[in-house]
Amino acid sequence: MTDRLFMGNTETIRLSSSLCVRCSAPVKPRFRPFCSARCSQLDLAKWLNESYRIPLEQDDEN
Ligand SMILES: [Zn+2]
Repeated sequence: MTDRLFMGNTETIRLSSSLCVRCSAPVKPRFRPFCSARCSQLDLAKWLNESYRIPLEQDDEN
């Protein structure tokens, strides 16, 4: 006779992993890891800005 213990799956959902990285709103799968297209575009714009700021320190000495 075997008793099987069913462990409750109470912690299956982790909210911390599904929050927008910009505004902490619930993420929509379509815009992961953001909650909306707006947040996605804002973050992308920030990225582009920072990439433009990168000084050209790499000299091609050839
Ligand atoms: Zn957001």
